[in-house]
Amino acid sequence: VKVAGKGHHRFFQPELFETIRNRRELEQSLVTALELDQFLVVYQPRVDAMSGQLCSMEALVRWQHPQHGMVPPLEFIPVAESSGLISQLGEVVIEKVCLQMARWQASGLEMVPVSINVSARQFGRGDVHQVLASALARHRIDARLIEVEITESAMMDEQNRAVEQLSAIRALGVRLLVDDFGTGYSSLSQLQKFAMDGLKIDRAFTMELGRSEQGEVFVRAILSMAHALGMSVVAEGVETREQLDILRALQCNEVQGYFISRPVPAEQMLGLMQQRFLI
Ligand code: C2E
Ligand code: CA
Ligand code: CA
Ligand code: CA
Repeated sequence: VKVAGKGHHRFFQPELFETIRNRRELEQSLVTALELDQFLVVYQPRVDAMSGQLCSMEALVRWQHPQHGMVPPLEFIPVAESSGLISQLGEVVIEKVCLQMARWQASGLEMVPVSINVSARQFGRGDVHQVLASALARHRIDARLIEVEITESAMMDEQNRAVEQLSAIRALGVRLLVDDFGTGYSSLSQLQKFAMDGLKIDRAFTMELGRSEQGEVFVRAILSMAHALGMSVVAEGVETREQLDILRALQCNEVQGYFISRPVPAEQMLGLMQQRFLI
């Protein structure tokens, strides 16, 4: 299978879903994509809001489709979840991230933590902590260099016994972050009960900064409560200098977004790691 050359990733074309008309067909092509290893991981830096220093990066999956180019996750993750393929896909992502980290480490770079997204359905098989433990051991990665991002609703998922698995993941030494904070209904006290290490304020709230009074009030409230509970806060989707300046004034810990960098392939991430200060 011929894939698009490095650095020449074509954008997703809507024809994919004209061709793949129904869910079953998309499901089948996901099975094929797993067999043919068509998934890849891109990385988006997270930086210290004050110093601009790289502190971590988020791993984001892409489907490199031979005919349709780069397919974004929102186009296939929901189908992977409903078809049960998400556990296998999640395992592929974990494996690719750990392999990449081992390569970076072998090149003598000082590693920063990498965060991996885990969705509620991934807890269905009950073995996320084992998959993580195995990949960490095989690639000799320090568990403290891995973070898991999980949404509020996934944390509360009782059917999949997410709580037990989250504590097993945490017992490995992996840090836990609440993703898309503010979009669900969890209270900060619940987050503390789950021993979450930090939270990521959803892009929807970052977008409001500088635009509306409420936006700033909301972010300020999250920050003061999170800090009182000893949690670190990341603002997602920072796209402008103005948003960054407001977040700095509010003492947000870390920022992530297009203003700093888009998600980039591993080779490009290497350059950003060497650069260290990104704003
Ligand atoms: P997310 O975890 O909330 O990830 C952040 C999304 O926002 C990413 O989209 C990222 O590219 C995008 N983003 C980052 N900065 C900006 C910005 O400044 N402006 C705008 N407009 N967007 C920004 P992406 O990569 O398309 O991922 C979408 C979602 O797919 C993720 O949302 C996550 O929920 C899911 N996802 C991605 N990779 C994985 C994975 O490996 N496993 C699972 N289970 N889900 C994944
Ligand atoms: Ca995330
Ligand atoms: Ca998010
Ligand atoms: Ca999201």
